[in-house]
Amino acid sequence: MSIHLTYVLYINLVCMGAVTSHPAPSVANDPIPVSATILSPKGINSLSLGEWSRHKELILAKRDSLSYAILDRAKCKSDKAQQDLAVLQARFDKLEKVIAQIGILENSDVEYVLKGTSNDVGSTSWDVHKKCIILSVGSTANFIHELMHGWQYETGEIMFDARFNKCYLQDLEDEVEAYRAQYAFDPGSVTNLPAASTLRSMRGITPVWVSGLTNKDGEKTYAEHGRVRVNVNSSKAMLMLAYPQLQQQFITWQETWTMKNVPDMIYKQHPVADFD
Ligand SMILES: [Zn+2]
Repeated sequence: MSIHLTYVLYINLVCMGAVTSHPAPSVANDPIPVSATILSPKGINSLSLGEWSRHKELILAKRDSLSYAILDRAKCKSDKAQQDLAVLQARFDKLEKVIAQIGILENSDVEYVLKGTSNDVGSTSWDVHKKCIILSVGSTANFIHELMHGWQYETGEIMFDARFNKCYLQDLEDEVEAYRAQYAFDPGSVTNLPAASTLRSMRGITPVWVSGLTNKDGEKTYAEHGRVRVNVNSSKAMLMLAYPQLQQQFITWQETWTMKNVPDMIYKQHPVADFD
């Protein structure tokens, strides 16, 4: 069971300081990202396929078991059965989406490499040398969580630094999406996390709930994450709203700049449209 899941790559004053100390982009509206020159059809690293498939099979099996449970509960017309049915259906629908998202990553123009973690604290990062995305995962619930961050790269919700082990644009909504997806597979992997408030349902996973999660030292895990949803196209104003602690970093930006204007960023050139 997943004990604790965290997105260990976080935006902070140090990394944003490094970013904003770069020379201003020469062509503000026509950046030439590194990703445009290095990406070709890749998908899942061949050495990761075995472990990838193992997680995928477990997710497919869970989806099927939820399907059987839905059929079973549908036979009963009690209020309790109807409530159970709604919960099961929400988990089933979410796993259906996860399975589709797995397919998107399998056909991505960026390579994904799976690495195991011993403590079940996952992460998603860009390998600056091998130029691929590393998903460090433990349990299958953890795999789903980090898969969502890979998906967020595909949809332009997050980006990486081509030169440093840094990830940008994470926000609390990104974590809501990741925790809801892993909840659909294994509710206990989320309800057992140290949080400020008790979690009773998948819909209870909100930005406020995520902001109350703490690490083993009692520190807020996502204190530096964006307070509003941002992506690669978010304006300076939105970025300042999301990261008020970084106001001094953004204040020198031109109003029209986005994170795509920062040199040496790895981001999806043609983001995948999100779906439900
Ligand atoms: Zn996360």
